Amino acid sequence: MAPKTGEMLHLRGNALNAGDPVALPLTQSSMYHLPGGTDGLPTYGRVDNPTWLHLEHVLAHLEEAPCLTFPSGMGAISAALFATLKTGSRLLIPSDGYYVTRVLADRFLSGLGMSVTERPTTTFTEGGFDGFDVVFVESPSNPGLDMLDLPAIAAAVRAAGGITIADNTTLTPLGQRPLELGIDVVVSSDTKAMAGHSDLLMGHVASRNAQIMERVEEWRRVSGAIPGPHEAWMLHRGLETLDVRFERMCSSAQVLAERLADHPAVKQIRYPGLTGDPSHALAAAQTARFGFLLSITLETEEKAETFINACPMLRPATSFGGVHSSAERRARWGDDVDPAFIRLSVGCEPVEELWQAIETSLNAL
Ligand SMILES: *Cc1c(COP(=O)(O)O)cnc(C)c1O
Repeated sequence: MAPKTGEMLHLRGNALNAGDPVALPLTQSSMYHLPGGTDGLPTYGRVDNPTWLHLEHVLAHLEEAPCLTFPSGMGAISAALFATLKTGSRLLIPSDGYYVTRVLADRFLSGLGMSVTERPTTTFTEGGFDGFDVVFVESPSNPGLDMLDLPAIAAAVRAAGGITIADNTTLTPLGQRPLELGIDVVVSSDTKAMAGHSDLLMGHVASRNAQIMERVEEWRRVSGAIPGPHEAWMLHRGLETLDVRFERMCSSAQVLAERLADHPAVKQIRYPGLTGDPSHALAAAQTARFGFLLSITLETEEKAETFINACPMLRPATSFGGVHSSAERRARWGDDVDPAFIRLSVGCEPVEELWQAIETSLNAL
């Protein structure tokens, strides 16, 4: 079921008293006034903050599950992994997903006595899931946009006694609902489309498993990986327009993908919304929208650089999901892709204006 974003916009309003501010107040305080008893009161800024609390209320509405926020996507991913793993645990992660998750596993989790196995997204189910305590998935994978059969994997991992964590950053809860598909825990970098304006980092963990969420909350309180109230306030404001931004971004991505597929400068294109795309069938079955990320491979690295840097409507930047379209060659970070492979994040520009800028720059190569 799609989350009701209209109801989300009025969550706060419908609980107000006369004279309350309609917009969410930003509470920037480490201390609370606590004369005597502390029962049920906020205690200290590492434990409670009314601005986060309301943000988490809104996120929980979007995810239809309890949510906890973190100061970045990696903060959320670390919390989910530290809450579910211990020495001796076996973790399975994609070899072609967001690369910092692999660095975390390799540089920290392995050193604490957890065993980490990597598999490519396209052959992720080969070898089964027996013996894995935690299976971490990313679908579509970033940047390859390959997809996994999430209901099948969730069921197989559960039958084998493990739990599943899905990184849902690229599609947001409006595009894909992993918890409905049987996944145990969702993690997200809200730095991307959720916040949407490329001006903050945040992340969240969502799960209907109360024990896991208790551990995640304990991890946050004890490790100190708490979001700043100002960032929480800004993310809340971004979420108020997520629906319109995401709708525009995904519809424009479909239009651009269809036109790019026919452009002679484009050697290869990946977009799950194209009927010929290897991810199309899974995307059609599992997602509400095909997303705002697409990739194109041009003829050479030089042409790819020229295109990205010369197009007046593409920010040459890493990261994605902002209101302004952006693009980069992923090989520059060591992703295992063609040197001329470009990940393109479609923003909120009117699509014809955007297409004209992209087409002109491609024609000039
Ligand atoms: C960006 C990203 C992250 C990390 O998020 P930060 O907010 O940068 O810490 C994790 N997963 C995916 C898929 C991402 O794109």
